[in-house]
Amino acid sequence: MLNKVSSLAVFFLMSALVSNAQAERWQQHINYTIKASLDVSTNIINGSEEVVYDNNSTDTLKKVYFHLYWNAFQPNSAMDTRSRELGKTMLTNRKGDQVADWDARVKDRILNLKPEEIGFQKVGYILIGGKQQKLVQHETILEVQLTQPIAPKSSVTMTLVFQAQVPQQIRRSGRDNAEGVRYSMSQWYPKMVEYDYQGWNTNPYIAREFYGVWGGYDVTLQLDKSYMVAATGVLQNPNEAPNAQGLKTWNFKGNNIHDFVWAADNHYKHLSKQVRPNLTLNVYYKEKNASTDSAWSNVLWAAEKMLPFMEKKFGAYPYPQYSFIQGGDGGMEYAMATLIKGPGLGTVFHEWMHNWYQQILGTNESLFPWMDEGFTSFAEAIVSNQYNTNFAATSPFISEREKAQILANNEKAKTQLPLVQAGNYMGYLALAKSGLEEPMSTHSDHYNTNYAYSSAAYTKGATFLGLLGYVIGDSVRDKVMLNYYNTWKFKHPNANDFIRVAEKTSGIQLEWLKEYWVNSTKTIDYALNDIQAGPNTATISIQRIGKMPAPLEVLVTYKDGSTELHYIPLDLMLGNKVAEGKTTRIIHPECKWVQPTYTFETTKPLSSLKSIEIDPSYRLPDINRTNNKLEIPN
Ligand SMILES: [Zn+2]
Repeated sequence: MLNKVSSLAVFFLMSALVSNAQAERWQQHINYTIKASLDVSTNIINGSEEVVYDNNSTDTLKKVYFHLYWNAFQPNSAMDTRSRELGKTMLTNRKGDQVADWDARVKDRILNLKPEEIGFQKVGYILIGGKQQKLVQHETILEVQLTQPIAPKSSVTMTLVFQAQVPQQIRRSGRDNAEGVRYSMSQWYPKMVEYDYQGWNTNPYIAREFYGVWGGYDVTLQLDKSYMVAATGVLQNPNEAPNAQGLKTWNFKGNNIHDFVWAADNHYKHLSKQVRPNLTLNVYYKEKNASTDSAWSNVLWAAEKMLPFMEKKFGAYPYPQYSFIQGGDGGMEYAMATLIKGPGLGTVFHEWMHNWYQQILGTNESLFPWMDEGFTSFAEAIVSNQYNTNFAATSPFISEREKAQILANNEKAKTQLPLVQAGNYMGYLALAKSGLEEPMSTHSDHYNTNYAYSSAAYTKGATFLGLLGYVIGDSVRDKVMLNYYNTWKFKHPNANDFIRVAEKTSGIQLEWLKEYWVNSTKTIDYALNDIQAGPNTATISIQRIGKMPAPLEVLVTYKDGSTELHYIPLDLMLGNKVAEGKTTRIIHPECKWVQPTYTFETTKPLSSLKSIEIDPSYRLPDINRTNNKLEIPN
């Protein structure tokens, strides 16, 4: 049976079903007042914190916990041990070389740190109501046994003092990185562990993934007056003069965030632009030469130019400030700021998009790394493509040679499918064929290999959104991203929360997509199986080889040049996606997911057929494309 429906005749009730109301789920709240002074000759910080903690949960808390991340930068720490263990696994890279699986930035460098190069964070005491609390140290997690439990719906004020040594920069934070930035100050203060509906998230720090309590930061830093400080939040005292000891005080405030980063250097150059009444963009970098000057100027220029597009696609940027700060060891996202090694725009867009997928939508990165890295990688590809095709040519800061290179790359990109997301799909397909893949639901710290973690988090996570566009339609997927933002901004969404928004927006059942794509390593492979001639039609048989089912789009091209797109919804969806493109769409009865084969008829006889292709848009991450297309011989 065939249902012939033109693309214009298919409508779905979508956005009408979606409420933009904020999601209801309790979450803890915190206000930090931190005062810290850094001695730039000894690299020692002495600080104090006042923490006002609101227990909005329904539970009585007998303990609380703090992260002491820098204790990881000591020989034989969990982070050091883990890195050296991963280093024993040898993998074959794309060039065919054998490479160790450890992070090339970490390797065994922690083991070789000298006493003055290690990091540490020591909490002297924690007081509540003047009473000292019992502290139990677990390397990077500090357990606080409370003298008095914190009742549900109540607030407590803790005061603590801490001393820390800034480690030689190994990973993200630290002093004197490869680019010569003196201080990259992330994970630098005793930070409270988040308590949520799944309990305390007390992950020992072994190199990756963060999660924090929503709230406000009032941070006062004091250090040598020759240093410029860049940070999360808005500087409150730009005109403050140094004191008699030659120390300068910097006070920053930020709200509705869950982390705070700062960096300091005595040779930072600062570019700044107020791009609208409530938003200033900053760039801080080490002066080198004219070409680095123009590359960093281009960061500011491109950031301003791309912001309206990013907001239209992914939701409003809600903070008064954002800073691109040279520091760290690659690119790493923080509230209202990033630490980046250099001015490469791919990383610039990636890290800025993290302010959506990590900061504003504060997923638990340990449990759902693909919801921040994957979504960010997906957005990075879209924003980079928009910049390269519509903006780069007009930049006053890049040379004619660079522009010619971008244009050449644009031409090359047009041959790579699926357009824009080709890099992410290729990364996923390599993972799926590697034999090393683990379910995307694996805890970030507990993957067997770095390779499987990073490919799952970045490329398989990005491919998820490409596949979602294939299943519900790209335009509906784009609406999902905005509804997701509006429903879950300033909260901690999980995988199911995202799927629910996608279901409500599309009117299509999507639990199967989560179960297969996120919780399993099953793969998609459909094949053209057989073609039989009928009196006036051809009967096409498609075989499901892969264990993961999917809806199908099959493009039939006739010798007269006409085309028709045969759409076969999956029974698990209980609905059809919107029509996409201008090709006439023929909707067939749904395919049951249990069916190993599916047959349908073309509208013209076999003799008039030129070719048949499963998934002509290439958005289906089919692990074997060689069996997707058939050219019919004359
Ligand atoms: Zn990232």
